[in-house]
Amino acid sequence: MFREMRKSKQSLSAEEIEQILSRNTAGVLAVSGDEDYPYAVPLSYVYLNGKIYFHGAKVGHKIDSILRCDKVSFCVIDQDKIVGEEYTTYFRSVIAFGRARILEGEEKRKPLVELCEKYYPGHLDITEPKVAGALERVGLIELDIEHVTGKQAAELAMGKG
Ligand SMILES: Cc1cc2nc3c(=O)[nH]c(=O)nc-3n(C[C@H](O)[C@H](O)[C@H](O)COP(=O)(O)OP(=O)(O)OC[C@H]3O[C@@H](n4cnc5c(N)ncnc54)[C@H](O)[C@@H]3O)c2cc1C
Repeated sequence: MFREMRKSKQSLSAEEIEQILSRNTAGVLAVSGDEDYPYAVPLSYVYLNGKIYFHGAKVGHKIDSILRCDKVSFCVIDQDKIVGEEYTTYFRSVIAFGRARILEGEEKRKPLVELCEKYYPGHLDITEPKVAGALERVGLIELDIEHVTGKQAAELAMGKG
């Protein structure tokens, strides 16, 4: 069902894909938005046990879109190095396709703690009563990856850059 990459020599290994998803801090989540317009929205995320998690408000355009259709994709740009003299960029990126699910109750805790650790290491104690309230207020989205690919510029694949 998912397409093969046409320029397969430029594809990245599963290990490289994991590294890219782990080391980056933002990507663009694409959902089927209002009136069938694709809605591509930038988000911070955490990659955890093969899944991707986002936090944010419990309402809004992306939440409504996911509730209507759970099929989404998420793109992370790892590198975009402009090489002007070669009229190209030495790029590296990952695209994940999968199903998004809005998490409820206690299942939000682990990804929320991991998000806090990634973005504010050592600054947040999720067990504090004040912070525990955030668990109720915050929206958590889980992206269960069905297909993921990574691609790099031909020059990087040839060992340049
Ligand atoms: C690098 C980065 C990281 C971010 N990380 C997070 C995160 O972890 N969690 C989070 O909730 N939000 C994050 N944001 C903000 C995020 O992009 C959205 O603005 C936010 O999630 C609200 O989305 P929504 O669909 O609920 O907005 P809504 O207000 O419901 O969207 C309504 C309309 O507002 C416009 N809009 C919404 N967001 C944007 C935007 N970013 N740029 C331009 N127009 C916009 C669109 O036209 C959209 O149709 C991040 C943004 C950036 C750039």
